Amino acid sequence: MSAINEELILDALGAVKDGENDIVSQKMVSGLQIKDGHVAFAIEVDPARGAQMEPLRKEAEKIVHALDGVLSATVVLTAEAGQGGGNAQPQAPEQHQHHPAGTGPDAIMMPGVKAIIAVASGKGGVGKSTTSVNLALALAADGRSVGILDADIYGPSVPRMLGVQGEPSSSDGKTLDPMQGHGIKCMSMGFLIEEETPVIWRGPMAQTALQQMMRDINWGDLDVLVVDMPPGTGDVQLTMAQQVPLTGAIIVSTPQDIALADARRGLNMFRKVDVPVFGIIENMSYFACPHCGERSDIFSHGGAKAEAALLSTDFLGEIPLAIDIRETSDNGNPIVISQPDSEHARAYRAIAVEVWRKTVAAQEKGEAEAPRIVVQ
Ligand code: ADP
Repeated sequence: MSAINEELILDALGAVKDGENDIVSQKMVSGLQIKDGHVAFAIEVDPARGAQMEPLRKEAEKIVHALDGVLSATVVLTAEAGQGGGNAQPQAPEQHQHHPAGTGPDAIMMPGVKAIIAVASGKGGVGKSTTSVNLALALAADGRSVGILDADIYGPSVPRMLGVQGEPSSSDGKTLDPMQGHGIKCMSMGFLIEEETPVIWRGPMAQTALQQMMRDINWGDLDVLVVDMPPGTGDVQLTMAQQVPLTGAIIVSTPQDIALADARRGLNMFRKVDVPVFGIIENMSYFACPHCGERSDIFSHGGAKAEAALLSTDFLGEIPLAIDIRETSDNGNPIVISQPDSEHARAYRAIAVEVWRKTVAAQEKGEAEAPRIVVQ
């Protein structure tokens, strides 16, 4: 494979035009990084034209990716430099290399946190946050000290679901103290970014903010931290999985999506970084009628169970599509807290028991595999 260099990349980018002129001669390309065939750079654009620039970003990515010797190309749009800033760096290309969870170049240490569990999904809207929150509360109901990190930069909803408002403060002047909701600690991008910020600008900038936030949280001692991951299985998720020393991961899927290779991609992503996947939860699995309690399988329910078996992972349980689950989580009193004796709360509690069992098993396995220091 031939080696790639800056000159070859800039040459190729000379074909990408913004208006009359190309983006290189207009000095729009910045922060170019090349590492073992992985290329990353930013294109600086006028913030007013943000949304229209996505095709240009894609074109640049495609052209660089097609070059000989390029394994990956990561291109982000930035508006910083034009406004006198210039510190919005693209993600370091190292992230594409193989790094087991928590050992990447920017690994984030959380010393008092005994276990970290990621809750992921192939796409948005499948109930990942609802599941994360109820699972976290169910773990707390079993006596664990629990935190939840809302890392969903695209739609942070944990504060609303836990009924937490306001801004986190700092008692030591260095790190942020997490907020508290229903007895668990909580941190969210929702405290730090405006919901109206357009996604195209939120992406790279929020990712930088997310990394900073994760470094700067004073979690104290926790038995377990539940991480509500950004939906999907792209670079943002992979980077997170590499930076945080995850104990295990859970995939949430709906019966309609399960066959769509979404769950499969999630599994592969975590396997790539050596994180054990605890299993799949099927959400909105069947319809539970609020009036008569009757259960009807509106989507061909059971897909997750079959798919989990195919993928040799475990099926952790099913949660019905129920109006009570929606209303309680959307109004800040998740069902595990507000209707603890309900069938749905019990479903979450049963999943939490299984998740905790797997967490302890993964910790024991990790300890057994960790190198021992022998004092002679
Ligand atoms: P995601 O995090 O995957 O984007 P959310 O957890 O925000 O999804 O859920 C999306 C919407 O679906 C929310 O309004 C939530 O209350 C609702 N929802 C999630 N799970 C269920 C369920 N099992 N039954 C009914 N509504 C649900």
